[in-house]
Amino acid sequence: MPLIKSWVTSANSATSPFPLNNLPYGVFTAADGEAHCGVAIGDQILDLTMLEEDGVIAVGELPVFDVPFWNEFMEEGPAAWAALRARLSELLAQGGDDTLSGDADLRARALVPQKGAELHLPLLVAEYTDFYAGRHHATNVGTMFRGAENALPPNWLHIPIGYNGRASSVVVSGTDVRRPWGQLKSPDHDLPAFLPCRRFDLELEMGAIVGTASDGPITVAEADENIFGYVLLNDWSARDIQAWEYQPLGPFQAKSTATTISPWIVTKAALEPFRCDTPPREFELLDHLKDVGPMLYDIGLSVTLAPEGKAPTTIAETNYREMYYSAAQQLAHHTSAGTPMNVGDLLGSGTISGAEKHQRGSLLELSWGGKEPLTLDTGDMRTFLEDGDTLALHGAAKGDGYTIGFGPCTGRILPALKDPYAR
Ligand code: CA
Repeated sequence: MPLIKSWVTSANSATSPFPLNNLPYGVFTAADGEAHCGVAIGDQILDLTMLEEDGVIAVGELPVFDVPFWNEFMEEGPAAWAALRARLSELLAQGGDDTLSGDADLRARALVPQKGAELHLPLLVAEYTDFYAGRHHATNVGTMFRGAENALPPNWLHIPIGYNGRASSVVVSGTDVRRPWGQLKSPDHDLPAFLPCRRFDLELEMGAIVGTASDGPITVAEADENIFGYVLLNDWSARDIQAWEYQPLGPFQAKSTATTISPWIVTKAALEPFRCDTPPREFELLDHLKDVGPMLYDIGLSVTLAPEGKAPTTIAETNYREMYYSAAQQLAHHTSAGTPMNVGDLLGSGTISGAEKHQRGSLLELSWGGKEPLTLDTGDMRTFLEDGDTLALHGAAKGDGYTIGFGPCTGRILPALKDPYAR
């Protein structure tokens, strides 16, 4: 599908992350100081809360955009999702419905420049689950933690391993992240100590958002239907806390500090042209997890790191198609023992690393456990994140003359508190 042209001319550039083909959904502070639902188009945000109040758009009998999150809209279901996308396409297309394009006053009220706009979490995150479904990442980490012969646990090629995380620590891009304290192996003796994390890291992931609730096991095809859209996701990780605590129940405090997501939900509909297959299977998957079509996406991903006051360096470049399991397979697996899933559930893909060294989606892998420091373009060296560093994830699917972007997924590292229990 080629670029669909809009009368919002900034959306027609091949490099704009938000052409009419995209239409990603977010929440922003409107002129009245209230948080409104909006859709990104070119360098503007179209205020959907206002357009719904004015009767230009209508999703159901009752308003769904009178709340500062997309959950109520998601609950309307896939037919409503398709209908809104069609209505917005009509209103924003060059030569389309002129309700908006032909009314200067309405246009001026409904379009807000993205520059300077304050963005919020686009959804109420119901629950957050983090998977470990990238084979290169799991192999690298397993090799470092357990040795090359035990790199992949015996279950890894048969199920997408995950753990239940915390929705309460999911934050929107731009939120500062404070270096945590935790129990870790003391550098001075064999016993643990409670210290500020010394090996604070990122994890480059995609987040899938559940848009339709389910109760009981669902198939991979049903799971794909139930996914509303995708965001970039950085699962901040305290490696020294993780290495001490993770056996046998997996990460807990190591992943509890924060998880950052990008501000725009890119819908499954926008990503349709970029569907691709999972890699060849070493073992045939059991029926309830079998691939039933291309359910990964060809999305270029990169990570930049900027030391305080300095220019960013690209430290990793990879692609979402490197995953071994799709989000639909993860969601199907999640429900297989009967877990109900809710609208607004967020599933982290697991760190997305490629086969090559520069394709690794965490500093743990890039610096090989701290043994091989990276040299940034600024000349600074890094093994793990330092205070003042700004980390950013970037994602782009390249279409025919257009780009589907996600907006940045950034966070700056604040120093650990001197005393986390000070009152
Ligand atoms: Ca993770």
